[in-house]
Amino acid sequence: MIKNIAQVLLKAEQPMIILPHVSPDGDTVGSSVALYLALRQLSRDVYIVLDDKLPNDFGYIASDIVLTSEQFIKQNIAYKTAICVDMSDTERLGKRKHLIEDKYLINIDHHRTNTRYGDVQCVDATAAATGEIIYKIIKELAITVTAEMAEALYIAIITDTGNFKYSSTTTTTFRIAAELLEIPFDRMRVINRIYHSIPREKVALHANATERTKFYDNGRIAVCTVSCADLSKYNALEEYTEGLVESIRDIDGVEVVIFLKERSNQTVKVSMRSVSEPDVSIIAYDHNGGGHKNAAGFSLNMSFSKALDYCQTNLVPRVITCMAL
Ligand code: AMP
Ligand code: MN
Ligand code: MN
Repeated sequence: MIKNIAQVLLKAEQPMIILPHVSPDGDTVGSSVALYLALRQLSRDVYIVLDDKLPNDFGYIASDIVLTSEQFIKQNIAYKTAICVDMSDTERLGKRKHLIEDKYLINIDHHRTNTRYGDVQCVDATAAATGEIIYKIIKELAITVTAEMAEALYIAIITDTGNFKYSSTTTTTFRIAAELLEIPFDRMRVINRIYHSIPREKVALHANATERTKFYDNGRIAVCTVSCADLSKYNALEEYTEGLVESIRDIDGVEVVIFLKERSNQTVKVSMRSVSEPDVSIIAYDHNGGGHKNAAGFSLNMSFSKALDYCQTNLVPRVITCMAL
């Protein structure tokens, strides 16, 4: 699979674009940046196109590289190939769906719910992060892994494994991480930016949301919510909800968390986490979303209050049923 995708990338027509998923996380950004730098090393004409704001903690690796759709389209680049990175389905392109029309489409991902879209797929659900797959591709292409690439891939891996905590972390994950650490980049700068520089507004938002969290089924299920009003109350950025669902999951006795986050224009983002069972990606998939066994998400196209209602009447009972299986 890796050999094949390396050949595909070498032969793919240029220019090419790399597309990370909407609401970008460390894996989609780190993997995209590393792939971009590798293809540039091979003198390929390549661009990363993304409209979302990059999160503050690791966004610096991509801020000088990423173009918005508008900036990209203005340049009138007659690109031939599009590469989706860490994207389970093309809905995760958001408003960029038109960018893949009539293009040769490459799908590089690790979600078990990947819909196998595109002309070529490289999907490995055993990889803890898409960054692992990109690392293998880079090695296969015999490219020198630079410090910038190593840093980007390290970010991809630590953010998708909860800093090597999740069950998705394998011996391969550790081996790749060890190989990345052989390359001199400032690992502690990465760790400090991601784990030790939490804005106070974020802490306040999390404290409040934690206090308001409701528990069901003897504390096995937790429902946590953040509305737009909560964000403004704490002067919090959209990205400040990052990590909240994980800290609720970590509460003793909690097996499943449902996190509802209000988005503007009648959409509510649902994130689900489970400690071991059940497989929350099945519930997400049934709602046109996707993800992994223990971390999945989807969107509800309804008002926040309707979504809270839906959660009580449908999602919580559904989780209870799944837990009984
Ligand atoms: P999140 O809850 O957004 O942190 O996402 C958890 C996992 O589920 C990640 O691997 C996401 O890529 C995936 N995921 C989240 N939302 C969606 C969605 N709407 N469609 C497909 N996959 C999703
Ligand atoms: Mn991702
Ligand atoms: Mn990922």
